[in-house]
Amino acid sequence: MSKELLVQLTEWRHYLHEHPETAFEEVNTAKFVAEKMAEFGYEVATGIGKTGVVASLTNGTGKKTIGIRADMDALNILEQTDLPYASKTKGKMHACGHDGHVTTALGAAKILADTKEFNGTVRFIFQPAEEHGKGALSMLEDGLFERFPIDEFYGLHNMPTLPEGEIHSKSGPIMASEDNFRIEIKGVGGHASAPHQGKDPLVVAAEIILALQTVVARNVDPIDTAVVSCTEIHTDGIINAIPSNVVITGDTRSYKPEVQQLLEHRMRLLCEKICEANEVSCEFSYSNSFSPTINWEECHQVAIQAAKNVLGEQLVNEQASPMMASEDFGHFLKLVPGCFVFLGGMREGVEPYPLHHAKFDYKEENLVKGAEYFAEIVRLQLK
Ligand SMILES: [Zn+2]
Ligand SMILES: [Zn+2]
Repeated sequence: MSKELLVQLTEWRHYLHEHPETAFEEVNTAKFVAEKMAEFGYEVATGIGKTGVVASLTNGTGKKTIGIRADMDALNILEQTDLPYASKTKGKMHACGHDGHVTTALGAAKILADTKEFNGTVRFIFQPAEEHGKGALSMLEDGLFERFPIDEFYGLHNMPTLPEGEIHSKSGPIMASEDNFRIEIKGVGGHASAPHQGKDPLVVAAEIILALQTVVARNVDPIDTAVVSCTEIHTDGIINAIPSNVVITGDTRSYKPEVQQLLEHRMRLLCEKICEANEVSCEFSYSNSFSPTINWEECHQVAIQAAKNVLGEQLVNEQASPMMASEDFGHFLKLVPGCFVFLGGMREGVEPYPLHHAKFDYKEENLVKGAEYFAEIVRLQLK
């Protein structure tokens, strides 16, 4: 491992960690990235999908283009680490390690620009707003692939629950879709002592929450995977008054469009019919936020080969378990071949803070490992 590169990447990552920016506000991050990439000799385009950056470098006469993606956004989390490079923006934090992803991509870009060991074009895509599933679509709507064509696309996510410095991936579905739902139940509120004079929407909500759990248990094929989670409930009641209005929100995860459709259909039917039986009104809305991330077999093979070349065979798991969390990269893989991998960051003997935790920290040796991994993909595919 290049010590010099690690020192450099660590410094960049600390800077980014100190200055987190959330969805579509990654102005300073994009500026930092654009300046570095231009310094390395890349042709840089900014403002793609609002705050996204695309940087391209061609070497030799090869016609093929490999894309490498890093997400740039932070989260609205109050950092609780005592790190010397902790967030300087109160209430915002790189708790998902996207500062590390950006730095890793910068590292790969620098390695490739310095060594020029490729024949063709490499493009680095720095995307905004991954956390809420909006950034990839925003770049696509801005003509990402028409303006900057890519033959194969690769990305990674750090994973503090997997062993340090290991790359895990699988062919096919690796991360789930995410859909969000909102159920508004309107009844008739009133005095808590006289429920018979009203139509209590809170009791109906309780019935609905339990009934929704039967969708996965009784309607989804046991071979398929799905999750239905009600996550919030709001009422306009007070301690001694039955509410007139209850709103339940939540999310669902799955891997197949037909399962997504089944979830929506069954949930809608249960909500509407339970409300009808209880003579209250129901407004059910359901939206698709993230597509499932489905790795392409041929690109999975490439990713695994590159990982083995860089890390050694024993640190690569090519049959990883899929995760039910979601990833904006799924939108891209619907359109172009590619592969997404996890890079393990669990320190031995240390209980890891998970992603999105206020004490999460990035395993910095992984910055160079990830950079070498991306550079190796480009070397392998642009010969
Ligand atoms: Zn995240
Ligand atoms: Zn993330």
